[in-house]
Formats: sequence, structure tokens, C-alpha cells
Amino acid sequence: IFITFEGIEGSGKTTQGKLLAEKLKKEGFPVLYTYEPGDTEAGKHIREILLNSEIKITPLCELLLYVADRIQHIEEKIKPHLEAGFIVICDRFTDSTVVYQGYARGISIDLIEKLNKELFSELMPDLTVLLDCSASIGLGRNKKVNKKDRFEMENLSFHEKVREGYLELARINKERFFVLDATEPINVITEKIYKKVKSIIEC
Ligand code: C5P
Ligand code: MG
Repeated sequence: IFITFEGIEGSGKTTQGKLLAEKLKKEGFPVLYTYEPGDTEAGKHIREILLNSEIKITPLCELLLYVADRIQHIEEKIKPHLEAGFIVICDRFTDSTVVYQGYARGISIDLIEKLNKELFSELMPDLTVLLDCSASIGLGRNKKVNKKDRFEMENLSFHEKVREGYLELARINKERFFVLDATEPINVITEKIYKKVKSIIEC
């Protein structure tokens, strides 16, 4: 089973993804928690380029770096674990690329979807948890201190576009998306996600 977590900065993806992984592990399920970009050796270097605003890259270069990171990530980690029967929980996946590079950064969504279809269609998540909150709440929560981070430089409207992009994707892919209000208490959200995942595991 392949589960992805999506949402804007500060929406709680990492917190909730890890909590879900822990809960499932305690029950004895084999679980891999992983994230994009950067959770392979090559990916660490790619992530450095992506997040460092002092390195100049064009939007298309940015897009293809995310794609390159994902290709390595799938081959090295996601696929082998799914094949071995693991529940794979991934913090960000193809939907991030559609909303950040497409809806927010302005690259052709058609091009991104073609790439996703061509390269990643065999890895459609069984469930995508979207933690939804406004950009001002998300960014207010985010305690990142690295001022060089490319995305610290973006304004509120960039992140509002990301949020709208996610909500649009959720409307288009109703079956796959599970949208939650990210302003609810952490344990309430955890419980909702857990119930949803159990219903998928059991059927
Ligand atoms: O999820 P995480 O905070 O590690 O993501 C790192 C940064 O990469 C975030 O600031 C996010 O805005 C950015 N990102 C992006 N496009 C993606 C995935 C992540 O701009 N496709
Ligand atoms: Mg995170």
C-alpha cells in the first residue's frame, strides 16, 4: 500500500506521516516512512540545489530536478519496499510537482502531467492525505530557520496558489484524496487518518 501526504508548508505532513508510520509499526505492519525531495544519496545533493536560493535555476530546471530525484527515489526505495509488502508512506509525491511547479510556478500543467503519466503512472498512490490550511496559518507554524531556503523567499500568494492547486487536484481525484482540516488538534487528525488507512488495509 502506497500512501502519500500532501499540503502546504506547515500543514503537518511530516508530523502526521511519522505518527501514522509509528502507529502501524506498533501493530506489526512493515512500514517505510520516506520523503521527497532528498531521501536517497543522490537525492540529498539534488535537494541541496533545489532548496538553496543562492543557486540560480530556471523553473524548468527545477521541475526536472524534482523528477530526477523522484526517479532515483522510486527505484532505490519506494518500489523495492512495495514489492516486499511494506506500507510505504511518502511525504510529498507527484501532486507536489503539479501544484508547486505547475499551479504556483507557472510551468505547463499539461507538460507536468505528461511527465507524471509517462514516468510515474505505475505508482499511483492508493491514498493521498491532503492536510489543508490557509497559507498564513501554515507559514506561521513553520519554524524553518534557514533563510537561504528558496521557498522562504516566496510570498503568501505563492503559497495560496499552492493551496488552491491542491484543492483543485482533490476535486478532480476524489477517490484517491482524503482532505482534512489541518487546524484540528494533532491527535484528532491522526485518528482520522488512521481509521481511513485501516479501512483500506482491511478491504
Ligand atoms: O516538504 P519539505 O518542507 O521538505 O519540502 C522542501 C521544500 O521544497 C518546501 O519548501 C517546498 O515548498 C518545496 N517543494 C517545491 N516543489 C515540490 C516539492 C517541494 O517547491 N515539488
Ligand atoms: Mg515537512
